[in-house]
Amino acid sequence: MKEAKLRHPVTRSEQMIAPLSRFRYGPAVHSQSIFPAYRPRRLRQSPALRRLVAETRLSVEQLVLPLFVCTGQKTRRPIAAMPGVFQLSIDELEREAQRTSELGVPAVLLFGLPATKNDRATGAYSRNGIVQQAVRRLKKAIPQLLVITDVCLCEYMSHGHCGLLEPGKKTGRVLNDPTLKLIAQTAASHAEAGADIVAPSDMMDGRVRAIRERLDQAGFTDVPIMSYAAKYASAYYGPFREAAQSAPHFGDRRSYQMDSANADEALREVALDIQEGADIVMVKPALAYLDIIHRVKSEFGYPTAAYAVSAEYSMIKAASANGWIDERAVTMESLLAMRRAGADILITYAAAEVARWLRET
Ligand SMILES: [Zn+2]
Repeated sequence: MKEAKLRHPVTRSEQMIAPLSRFRYGPAVHSQSIFPAYRPRRLRQSPALRRLVAETRLSVEQLVLPLFVCTGQKTRRPIAAMPGVFQLSIDELEREAQRTSELGVPAVLLFGLPATKNDRATGAYSRNGIVQQAVRRLKKAIPQLLVITDVCLCEYMSHGHCGLLEPGKKTGRVLNDPTLKLIAQTAASHAEAGADIVAPSDMMDGRVRAIRERLDQAGFTDVPIMSYAAKYASAYYGPFREAAQSAPHFGDRRSYQMDSANADEALREVALDIQEGADIVMVKPALAYLDIIHRVKSEFGYPTAAYAVSAEYSMIKAASANGWIDERAVTMESLLAMRRAGADILITYAAAEVARWLRET
């Protein structure tokens, strides 16, 4: 009865507020939700109250730490542009992964730095490639840790592009279809080594299908694919290129990675990857592409990952080293923004620090 009384007649304030909330609430709710009856500040009075009504949360289970593995022993080579990030030999990688896992971070994303490169990227899919060795070691030492592998050729190619180049002339044209076989072979070799999830980042058309078919043929029907579905050609990758030693020797990656002007195209990319068999879709970079994360999650409802890329990390580190910002607060706020936009999984170089901070709160 009370409800009926509230519903009619529609008051002027209801008319004002209804368009703002027509998707979620009827006007009946909002006849009460107007000042002075409704005071939003009531629920902001204490940390406990704010936490109680928080719509979005950060938790350690959502984090993935990217790690760079190199050849050698007892090697822990700092990356100048990414303070706190290292190129690690396999023994050091195991130690780092162990610490990360103890902090509750459930997954790492592996990038390999081979000793040698060539124009067929053989190191990417060789049985004893750097990533394959690292995966075997990690899965043996820390079985509960999810090991995700980046699947691409650029780190193993002498020219640094993500695919095969047109032979002969130096046109720099990256060939799509011939590259697919090598990408699929790389993913299968990672699965064979024990990878829990393979993550293709090359942005060749059709690579998710090629990988799915190859994995299924090899008996890895249960290995999920996390596709870098909407990966933009971004200046935010700058510091990573040093970390992964993967800068192309000529040209750029704009013929295969997405143009940052486009959003509808990102939805088509994601739709294609899902049709081809992607289990998790990723948007990369994260903070400058929150609209894309939001649209991808709203449109498809698939598990969605956001990759907070190297410059997102380095800019916070640099500004905080200068005393200009509060590193912890800005990091947490940025990750929360990705969650709010719709990301389920947060790939960040700050994962271990964030895990520590989350324990303290
Ligand atoms: Zn690549």
